[in-house]
Amino acid sequence: MVPSTALSYTPSFELLNRWVIERQLCCYCGTCAGVCPRITLDGKTPRLIDYCSECGNCYKYCPQTYTPVKEFEKKLFIGTNKEESLGYYEKCILAQSTDDNILSIAQNGGLVTTLLIYALETGLIDGAILTTADKNWMPKPILARTPEEIKKAAGSKYFMCPSMWAYRNVIDDPTVKRVAVVGLPCQVRAARKLQMESMVPVENGKIEFIIGLFCHRNFSYEGLLLETVKKMLNIDPSEIRKLDIWKGKFTVFTQENKQVGLQVKDLSKYSWPSCSSCTDFTGRLADLSVGNAGVTDINWSMAIVRSKKAMEVLDDLVKAGKLRIVEGGNAINVIMKEAQKKAERREKVSDLLYQYFSELGIPSEDIRVYFVLLTLGGANAAELSKAANIGETELDTILTRLSEKGWLIKHEGYYVPTRPSTVLRIEAGKLHNLIKKVLEKESELEGIYVRKFG
Ligand SMILES: Cc1cc2nc3c(=O)[nH]c(=O)nc-3n(C[C@H](O)[C@H](O)[C@H](O)COP(=O)(O)OP(=O)(O)OC[C@H]3O[C@@H](n4cnc5c(N)ncnc54)[C@H](O)[C@@H]3O)c2cc1C
Ligand code: SF4
Ligand code: SF4
Ligand code: SF4
Repeated sequence: MVPSTALSYTPSFELLNRWVIERQLCCYCGTCAGVCPRITLDGKTPRLIDYCSECGNCYKYCPQTYTPVKEFEKKLFIGTNKEESLGYYEKCILAQSTDDNILSIAQNGGLVTTLLIYALETGLIDGAILTTADKNWMPKPILARTPEEIKKAAGSKYFMCPSMWAYRNVIDDPTVKRVAVVGLPCQVRAARKLQMESMVPVENGKIEFIIGLFCHRNFSYEGLLLETVKKMLNIDPSEIRKLDIWKGKFTVFTQENKQVGLQVKDLSKYSWPSCSSCTDFTGRLADLSVGNAGVTDINWSMAIVRSKKAMEVLDDLVKAGKLRIVEGGNAINVIMKEAQKKAERREKVSDLLYQYFSELGIPSEDIRVYFVLLTLGGANAAELSKAANIGETELDTILTRLSEKGWLIKHEGYYVPTRPSTVLRIEAGKLHNLIKKVLEKESELEGIYVRKFG
């Protein structure tokens, strides 16, 4: 990185580093390295390995910077049902592959693998960005170009993987005109940004279909596999046949048909830092969201169908005899509860901070604008006005006040929030000064009291 003497607010790797990586918000999705060959990933964080031309792509497509979710949803899914924690959806279904071979390697009903193979064979896509693993279960991004490669990626790896790094192969290969992405909700957000505000010409590398996987949290390979499975359970990674998380239990299935289970809540110390502030359970920007929440038989996949494209592919799969589908019925309520539970996790932290700021006597509109800015990681006035739902004139007054208080910095029309810890210190400092001033008057006040009552 070119050393800089002054802090820059130009969307660049420096800004990505400051607002996402250093704040432990990076979900290691791989998008930044996927869009820029100057970025590499070292197992934990993205690193700049060459000079940064400040094109801003890594910052723009990172799922942890501003994503116009509501705007995208209106463009993509309008006219379908809507629920606050789930987003838009057409319907909820249970699905199972009719191919026994796929069922034997899939995590649940093999819906994801069956759909992708069909999409590839019928020419809907030329490849798919997926997550495979080596013999030691180390997850690896892959641009799968054949049914065999899609099958090799079947099954859940409960470890963070920079799957979107494989987008680089899409950009580099002119024969990949249309691609599908399978990812966790954070990766889905990045994929949708890349699709809606494409950085490549539309005739090449178009993201055609996005499948989201339900997700409460994900884990580090070192913590879940090396510390827990290998060291604590004494199972070598090469002996693992399948890993599963269902109904709060993490289970390891070995090649010798041994099963060992642990409670997921006991593994929370190994969960990825960014997961604690994540609120999306289903991947609300996906065409189709798939999981096992709400199933009674683990050999079926549960799915939320959102887009017309997803409806059509599923209909075609049933007609072609590749998939069995039944209506999800009440399962949607189970998924909704799970989604609400996840959203509430961050709400609790926000509520507490909100309470602290209120107790310091800070006006509620100032707190609200600052919180929205924090969530966006920086924005211009128009973006902020839309996201906070505040008119630009009122917002201007609030922003001037926040800037004077040192809660944000304005640079070339771009507002960047000061860290919450600094803001708390600024406000606590003011309170401290006030108390000091009052205490300086203690003897005078005492004097008045003594003269009057003493
Ligand atoms: C980390 C993680 C957490 C999950 N948490 C939940 C949960 O809390 N509740 C719930 O209901 N469901 C959860 N799921 C989804 C569930 O485990 C299944 O993936 C889903 O039911 C699809 O099953 P399937 O048989 O249709 O998929 P398959 O046909 O087996 O295909 C699975 C697909 O998942 C992709 N994949 C595997 N590992 C990863 C990874 N680490 N990152 C991105 N993509 C990956 C592969 O590319 C593959 O294409 C989670 C999945 C993962 C990977
Ligand atoms: S994508 Fe652009 S801004 Fe980001 S590191 Fe690469 S050159 Fe710099
Ligand atoms: S794009 Fe993904 S990997 Fe890169 S900084 Fe953002 S969250 Fe992390
Ligand atoms: S909890 Fe959120 S940030 Fe963590 S892996 Fe799942 S979708 Fe990504």
